[in-house]
Amino acid sequence: MKSKFDLDGIGMTSQRTRDRLIARLREQGISDEQVLETMRTTPRHIFIEEALAHKAYEDTALPIGFNQTISQPFVVAKMTQLVLQGAHDSVLEIGTGSGYQTAILSKLSRRVYSIERHETLKKKAEQLLTRNGFKNVINILGDGTLGIQKQAPFDRIILTAAAEDIPQILLQQLRVGGIMVLPIGLPQSDQTLIKLEKTSSKIIFDEIAKVRFLPLVEG
Ligand code: SAH
Repeated sequence: MKSKFDLDGIGMTSQRTRDRLIARLREQGISDEQVLETMRTTPRHIFIEEALAHKAYEDTALPIGFNQTISQPFVVAKMTQLVLQGAHDSVLEIGTGSGYQTAILSKLSRRVYSIERHETLKKKAEQLLTRNGFKNVINILGDGTLGIQKQAPFDRIILTAAAEDIPQILLQQLRVGGIMVLPIGLPQSDQTLIKLEKTSSKIIFDEIAKVRFLPLVEG
């Protein structure tokens, strides 16, 4: 049967390469079946310009214009698996970029707020998400380090750009019992992917892996 995502005519080929990517993610330690299934059934090629679409199911980051990239599928899987553990409703994402990570979060959450500072990227991602039926996403243009005061607190917060320190406003906007996943470190160097959990008395940190992200730009 044709899924609504196969209307581009490369449906079958892309499904095979998608399955291969999922097998690879599994081999590399992604174990959450819901995350794997969501990535298997969510097209990545629609978030990439046509000239690069043939590389959409390779496990690699790709340029999306404006010196930004769509994250590597392994990193998307890993971050999604970490941040969406347990029951949650609202997710705040900083750095919409192409909108691919947003799409994955959207399928696994009740509501996703996604902030992007680059107007063209925000508009493009919003259009793609709307056209492809991701109805529970709210796209916002602005500085993600400020979060969204009027929608706080959030159950989950994910940053897909590297901060030098944990943005304190975002920490305040995380619900007690909530999880935040973010890369911390300087631009142009290895950063550390951190998972933090906010309890009523403290913040529990977990260092997950070395990663490379583009920098979080304030303002
Ligand atoms: N998850 C995205 C990754 C995009 S790269 C994807 O897979 O497509 C990081 C994005 O963060 C870029 O689009 C960049 O413009 C955005 N960004 C950087 N600093 C930001 C900030 N302060 N607020 C919102 N978005 C920001």
